[in-house]
Amino acid sequence: QANEKESMYLVSEFAQKYFQHTLLESEEGKAIGLSYFKERGFTSDTIKKFGLGYSPESWDAFTKEALGKGYKLEFLDKTGLSIVKEDKQFDRFKGRVMFPIQSMSGRVLGFGGRILTNDKKAAKYLNSPESDIYHKSKVLYGIFHAKQAMAKLNNCYLVEGYTDVIQMNQSGIENVVSSSGTALTADQIRLINRLTPNVTVLFDGDAAGLRASIRGIDLILEAGMNVKVCSFPDGDDPDSFARKNNQESLLAYFEENSKDFIQFKASLLMQDAKNDPIKKADLIRDMVVSISKIPDRIKREVYIQECSRIMDISEDVLFNTLAQLVKKDL
Ligand code: ATP
Ligand code: MN
Ligand code: MN
Ligand code: MN
Repeated sequence: QANEKESMYLVSEFAQKYFQHTLLESEEGKAIGLSYFKERGFTSDTIKKFGLGYSPESWDAFTKEALGKGYKLEFLDKTGLSIVKEDKQFDRFKGRVMFPIQSMSGRVLGFGGRILTNDKKAAKYLNSPESDIYHKSKVLYGIFHAKQAMAKLNNCYLVEGYTDVIQMNQSGIENVVSSSGTALTADQIRLINRLTPNVTVLFDGDAAGLRASIRGIDLILEAGMNVKVCSFPDGDDPDSFARKNNQESLLAYFEENSKDFIQFKASLLMQDAKNDPIKKADLIRDMVVSISKIPDRIKREVYIQECSRIMDISEDVLFNTLAQLVKKDL
């Protein structure tokens, strides 16, 4: 219902203002939240641009304030800002720094909240639950600030996390979005494709998520888009790397280290398969399946040639496998 959704938007907007005010004006917010962001190198302008905030270390300070201002418990519950249990209400994001998640048009849909301790038992990031206004699979963090630059520069950087988006913006690179820790979805890819068909995926240097990300990236190819990938030195992610480099050297690094996705995938999987013929056979099929999903026929042929070289297998075998797959599709 339109009215319900509007009420959810309004309470989310109120929450964003409350968290930001708490960050910038309260003693606790300044001592804990603001000093955390400053330590990460975020400037005041950046904090305001992304509407960052702090949720106080209290069971229900936010919920009480919202109810006092006339926001209904129903919508605090439906947005997940408050957790309602029987006759009690609690703040979901107690003691976390807050990253509002905005729609393409800038409305607040939900939040990511980060803990400040290095407590390995607690989840580092906590996100708003799915709701009528927040559909995780359809949202890209940073899209509101990225959309103009994406269209103008005809390219999009895709990163893993909130702070990667923010730090790159602070370095002057605005065409950057994040799927925020979830596997990339077809809806998110469509959102990018409305603005540009060119994507550069920036992986965290930890390589843990690298192989897991490959499926999501295959989806970008299937949409007929152009995908490059770029990784960082071990232990770096775009956030930590952008802190150490200015815009010029960042762009130079991306330029030098971006690889075409198909080539990247072929070499990566080849390292895994090396001397195992069964694995290698699987990998060849996997690569040809990826290539078969590229809508453009000429591009497919170029990729077959490249894969033949990287995987040391004849073009004929690859073309025959491709022909079978493409036939099946028709
Ligand atoms: P930071 O620099 O603050 O430690 P990060 O963005 O580098 O964070 P990663 O561990 O690389 O964190 O994870 C990437 C993204 O995945 C995060 O920005 C967040 O959106 C999501 N994420 C990470 N950990 C969790 C978690 N425990 N629960 C939900 N989402 C998470
Ligand atoms: Mn990571
Ligand atoms: Mn990271
Ligand atoms: Mn990080």
